[in-house]
Amino acid sequence: MSHRIPIIAGNWKMHKTHEEAKDFAGEIKGLIQFAEVESVICAPFTALASLQGEMQGTSIQLGAQNMHWESQGAFTGEISASMLVSLGVSYVIIGHSERRMYFGETNETVNKKVETAFASGLTPIVCVGENLAQREQGETKSFVREQVLAAVKGRTPEEISRLVIAYEPIWAIGTGKSSSAVEAGDVITEIRNVLAEVYPRETADQVRIQYGGSVTPANIVSFMEQPDIDGALVGGASLTATSFFQLVDGVRGGIKQ
Ligand code: 13P
Repeated sequence: MSHRIPIIAGNWKMHKTHEEAKDFAGEIKGLIQFAEVESVICAPFTALASLQGEMQGTSIQLGAQNMHWESQGAFTGEISASMLVSLGVSYVIIGHSERRMYFGETNETVNKKVETAFASGLTPIVCVGENLAQREQGETKSFVREQVLAAVKGRTPEEISRLVIAYEPIWAIGTGKSSSAVEAGDVITEIRNVLAEVYPRETADQVRIQYGGSVTPANIVSFMEQPDIDGALVGGASLTATSFFQLVDGVRGGIKQ
């Protein structure tokens, strides 16, 4: 739908020192100036301060990969929303499958983090997606449905209209084995329909839903051709400035009229 601005977000995961992030910023500056596509770099916490300085004056926005739901306190090793906001961060990935798998994130913690993100002025990018066994047993839609409903529970339509969801099938992450664009588009349409069960249809139609999992400059356009796919959350292919630029350019080329 033409009223949703496409969004491409790079998830650097645990890659790049702050010096390496500065090098990336130096290269990407000037390349990306497309007002019709939003581009976001979700960097490690330690690179955010450098990137804030380096990216100033560009259209690239900053994102974090996680945060805690409490505002402050005795939570060793955690980062709060206000710490991110004060570094100029606008987006935060919530509930990435790697955090659910390796760091004990649950639908409950995702729900609390989404609440805090909105309350702090951050836009959450909520990740959902099934594993291979669930896929093979035909449980994809029911599993994803549960994750979506748990994430949005308690949020207002106004908040939800600003939400970004990333549908990332776990078996497609970092494997070079992306979902077919049609299959991904089908699950993403289902996600929008699930949102429309609990929110007004016009709210569900405002939510931007990305695909993630082995997205590259070579396949991004095929995903963008799907009517409900509004961009991508990209790991490996977001790590070089050239590739990130090509992704954003591809999203721009695939904008629905
Ligand atoms: P890849 O693009 O490396 O498959 O990673 C996807 C992902 O997990 C983005 O959050």
